[in-house]
Amino acid sequence: MSDAAWRQERGPGGAATPVCEIDGGSPGPTWLLSAAIHGDEYEGPEAIRRAVRELSGMKFPGRVIALPVANPMAYAAGVRCTPEDRGNLNRVFPGDANGSVTPQWADWLWRTFAARADRLIDLHAGGAFFEFDPVAGFYEDVDAPMAAVFGFTLWRAPPTPGVFSHEFRQRRGSAFGLELGFGGTRDEKLTDTAHRAIVRLVRGETAPVHGPIYSNHDISALHGGEWSSRCRRGQEIKKGDVVGVMHRLDGTLISEIRSPIAGRVLAFRRVASAQPGDLLVGIGVPE
Ligand SMILES: [Zn+2]
Repeated sequence: MSDAAWRQERGPGGAATPVCEIDGGSPGPTWLLSAAIHGDEYEGPEAIRRAVRELSGMKFPGRVIALPVANPMAYAAGVRCTPEDRGNLNRVFPGDANGSVTPQWADWLWRTFAARADRLIDLHAGGAFFEFDPVAGFYEDVDAPMAAVFGFTLWRAPPTPGVFSHEFRQRRGSAFGLELGFGGTRDEKLTDTAHRAIVRLVRGETAPVHGPIYSNHDISALHGGEWSSRCRRGQEIKKGDVVGVMHRLDGTLISEIRSPIAGRVLAFRRVASAQPGDLLVGIGVPE
């Protein structure tokens, strides 16, 4: 066991980010805790900083690598994607050393941190664009009792190429992707819940898997325009229910958007402007 000592690590392009490593004092897994892969998501960095404070000096099996601000360029600008190349860091793992700064940064994170870890907790939030029902995402059934420690809605995260947690699960070990608050602000209750759950997980706890596990069905924009949601987080909807409307920029109606499936609203778009292909509503379908 050792006291936490933060250091600055400099990645491709020269941006620096704080890193802390804690040895729990006995053999066990190496946990990588990451947040702010998207720069407008604020619960995760603070949950990790609090977990580091609590775990330092505590005895636990294994080791923790804490990376609270995984995309310092986007974080500094307060935006989702890397300003330098408009890259979405959470779509380019395990990265490309010969790409633009975002895939280079992913490659550096992967080689420097992920390649030494056995377990990953990657904390996200809805940011400015999306309102999320808090979910604990996981990929494999064997990981569900660890995901359940968060006490959030359980979510079977989709196998989206380039997503940090998905690529980590394919190559390294148990991986969790959390979606916490939204609105480009920090929700204190969610921050506290996440911080406590991280400490319990690192100390080896699991929890019984209660309630449904949801897979997601995304409703994306067919047309660009002015989007207005007509649904609430956590709302149970039936097939055919209207979940939002799309108008042209001159205000004329393009279409009502109806859900093609019954389920629970896990996420919806907050920002009014939408381009073809943008996510509008994420429907959770119980397995
Ligand atoms: Zn995110």
